[in-house]
Amino acid sequence: MAGTHSIQHENPVKAAGVMSGPLANVVNDNGTLGLIMELSGKLQTTLDLESLLELFAQVMKAQFDFDTLRYQTIDESLSLKFGRRAGRNKLNYDLSVLDTDLGAITLTRGRKFREPEIKQIENLLVALLYPLRNALLYRDAIHSAFIDSLTGVKNRTAFDSNFSRETEYNRRKGSDLSLIVFDIDFFKRINDNYGHVVGDAVLKQVAQTVEETIRSSDALYRYGGEEFAIVLNGTDMKGATLLAERIRRNVESMAIPSLQDVRVTMSLGVATLKSKETSSKLFERADAALYEAKQGGRNQVVSAA
Ligand code: GH3
Ligand code: MG
Ligand code: MG
Repeated sequence: MAGTHSIQHENPVKAAGVMSGPLANVVNDNGTLGLIMELSGKLQTTLDLESLLELFAQVMKAQFDFDTLRYQTIDESLSLKFGRRAGRNKLNYDLSVLDTDLGAITLTRGRKFREPEIKQIENLLVALLYPLRNALLYRDAIHSAFIDSLTGVKNRTAFDSNFSRETEYNRRKGSDLSLIVFDIDFFKRINDNYGHVVGDAVLKQVAQTVEETIRSSDALYRYGGEEFAIVLNGTDMKGATLLAERIRRNVESMAIPSLQDVRVTMSLGVATLKSKETSSKLFERADAALYEAKQGGRNQVVSAA
């Protein structure tokens, strides 16, 4: 961009080992050392990524005059910005520790950044590295606790933690919430006839087909072995039943290489939240509809009355 002064410090802020690297340069400056100790103490109080960066931004703001501080993870799955209007001068750091990328921090302001300030900023960034790494590891651990490792969709733990909250949220907003529960028909036969490995592949393919059929605001969960649930925000009974029927057809027409001509079918139950109904009652009604679909001959959708 013509006319902008931007300092790009693409040189990574790295810590190769505890107490080595840039920290060593600070020890003869008591003021900075005190500040780093204070900052480190604060950063140790949380493992939550957003709170950690907010604390960091607060301490930075108290020391340096900047307009915005932005943090971005390496895969861009998270981007946080503190401060509003970005100034045209930029300081950008790629953070890493022991060859693990920790994302990037960018500071902006109208005035140029001066050398002594840049040094101090870098010193504080070093204090952020290990707490940031821990917060990222914690975030990954939380994420995998809620994901089914076979299919990659949300698991039962996630369902239990989200479902009642979502029903309450939709109720307060006065918007419709529907639930589809489905179960693969005669899945035991697939395992018995083709083996568990093929069974696993079928589960994956079913989950993928369903994900491709629903909207991003809908959430698919693997609830049990070959039983799934879909929470549909802002969807009434009519919309949910149409979607369930589309899912049923899409799965039925899936070509599964290792099954040759054998078709996989599913039975689906649909229910929409009534006023004053609890989330567990809603689940019960959808499950009862699924049971009816099984009783009615499988490969069909039943909507709860
Ligand atoms: P129905 O139409 O009544 O649902 O019959 P079904 O055979 O699908 O029902 P049943 O509950 O008897 O069998 C479910 C099977 O799903 C049994 C179990 O071994 C299998 N299963 C559960 N989880 C997995 C898994 O992760 N991988 C594989 N391959 N099979 C699984
Ligand atoms: Mg089944
Ligand atoms: Mg089952």
